[in-house]
Amino acid sequence: MQSASEFVEQRRPAGGRRSGKRDFIVQVFLRQEGHLAADELVDLIRTEDARISRATIYRTLQWMVEAGIARKVDFGEGRYRFEHSYRHPRHFHLICKTCNQSYEFLSSDIEALIEEVADARHFAARQSVLQIYGTCESCQAGRQPDRATAPTESLFARDALRIAIATERSGLEFYTRAAALTKDARGRKVFKRLAAEEKKHLGTLEARYRELLAADPELESHPTFLFFKGAANGLFAAGTEALRDGVDDRQALLVGIKCERGSHKFFKRYGDRFEESEGKRIFLEFADEEREHLDLLIREYKSLVERQKSRGGTAR
Ligand SMILES: [Zn+2]
Ligand SMILES: [Zn+2]
Repeated sequence: MQSASEFVEQRRPAGGRRSGKRDFIVQVFLRQEGHLAADELVDLIRTEDARISRATIYRTLQWMVEAGIARKVDFGEGRYRFEHSYRHPRHFHLICKTCNQSYEFLSSDIEALIEEVADARHFAARQSVLQIYGTCESCQAGRQPDRATAPTESLFARDALRIAIATERSGLEFYTRAAALTKDARGRKVFKRLAAEEKKHLGTLEARYRELLAADPELESHPTFLFFKGAANGLFAAGTEALRDGVDDRQALLVGIKCERGSHKFFKRYGDRFEESEGKRIFLEFADEEREHLDLLIREYKSLVERQKSRGGTAR
């Protein structure tokens, strides 16, 4: 996993001068979760080192925005806020106008739709902002809003793992059924092997999920961060449904190929667009696993077709 200093180094412009003050400001900023107004950062920095001027801090903030270390957000309060992008995936905001708290979420369906619109208009999109203003759940209920929130990165990892686990479970169910239905001995062996792999991966993913919970026992109490309308587990569920209608060995392999291809594409596509984070890693590792399954199924399919051909040639 990339460290904070590597993250900054990568974004430092070529020939950019290093400065101790600037590095210090960047370090303090990267330690903050949430959305900071410039004045709040000034207060934070100046309690640690009163010799750093307000102007230097403002200049550094501007520098961080240009370098992609900070993102500037406007919540309609008449001043900008800043959030860092280190291990902080892109996201959208729900903003409560009563308590002025902002809540982050990510929806890949919305992102895909934005891309679709921009493409259709041949627009080279650089950044999209989605802000939903209203009243949060706590304010509606007259409760004190809950200020304690987990870092976005943990919520993202939690939700990415949940999606991968759900996909793995439906994959396991699919291969178990396919193995039971397949008459071809070699095809059956492939499905059994894939079922065993899914089971093993499922165990690994569940262990990682438990580790996350052990690091933060409150993690499950936070609302969903990552929203998916058509999560990948739907792919295997559809495959299992197709098996129910009765298929032969070749068809079973084809259904498996379709599921794995869809699942690989899904995890790769979303994994690629996320910024460096645990959630991104989970998605990309999972995409690789699905790719391996896909290759295996394609090899099996070709070999089955060959065997059927030669058998057909001699029998008929
Ligand atoms: Zn509120
Ligand atoms: Zn944010």
